[in-house]
Amino acid sequence: MTGISRRRLLQIGLLTPLATSPLYRQTAALAACTPGRCNNPTRETGANPGNLPTIADFIWPISGAPDCYLIGDAFGPRLLGTDYDWHRGIDIQGNEGVTPVIASASGFVRISADCDERYRRCGKIIQIEGYDRNGQRYRMNYCHLDRRLVDRGERVTQGTEIGRVGCTSATWSHLHFEIREGDTPRNPYCYLPHLNLNNHSIVIESVTSNSMSINVSLRVTTPRNELDINEVRVRVLDSSGIEVDNKYINFNARHNCGTDDQCVMDGSTEICIFPENFWYDESNWETVFEFSGLASPGSGLVEVVAEARDCGGEVASARWSSS
Ligand SMILES: [Zn+2]
Repeated sequence: MTGISRRRLLQIGLLTPLATSPLYRQTAALAACTPGRCNNPTRETGANPGNLPTIADFIWPISGAPDCYLIGDAFGPRLLGTDYDWHRGIDIQGNEGVTPVIASASGFVRISADCDERYRRCGKIIQIEGYDRNGQRYRMNYCHLDRRLVDRGERVTQGTEIGRVGCTSATWSHLHFEIREGDTPRNPYCYLPHLNLNNHSIVIESVTSNSMSINVSLRVTTPRNELDINEVRVRVLDSSGIEVDNKYINFNARHNCGTDDQCVMDGSTEICIFPENFWYDESNWETVFEFSGLASPGSGLVEVVAEARDCGGEVASARWSSS
């Protein structure tokens, strides 16, 4: 959607919540959540018991997701309230104390704690560590649990129930789920089965330029059932089609984006990210990206190509030309 988002309107009191939206009703019923506190964080780590099943694939950590359970926040840039934030996982709706959480992949329980010093915002957390056939290490974090059903050092196989969805250190009942390759958070959608419909889109909202540099503002939209955008790129071409500049943000690699900063510098180019609020009755994820200070060919025809690439490698693109 364009213009002011629903959540912003709600925040400033211009709208009342839509009781008629089925998604909203579903979520409103789950919204009562008294976040538990994390008073005595521990830092104990379970030992690898050996003979672990090899990770061949990942499954959704809640049976029936994503079709039957709302995904509350996508991986990557988001607004947490009114603050910009880089979300390191995805949030999956569930009923407090009821909805089972299952192991997305096999491994051993490295962390099982009411509150871990390393992941304070997780509340009750289980971390499972496993390896694929190439020896690549993965760590999966399951956060905000109501109950933990496995202990440190236990071997778990894919699909085993390891806990129940909860509210600990959360404002609504959901599972915050992370997949870390090594220790780097990745977009879980790049690993989990999902429809790959290539339904995402990109629109160039404005291009301003002078002889020295070009500023591009673009909007990326993807439907809620396919939150797998992983890279946004802008290329500048001269009148002969020769590339003058090429800058990108890669969500998984966090290219030139090593911090949670809303704006990062890549050479003389500043890349800023402005997520729309993700609200329960909106069916799309939308974020505006601004690439400022891209190199300009100086004179003649300038062409700008913007691309949004998803985990499956599908690319949506938009073009702008100065002619
Ligand atoms: Zn989360």
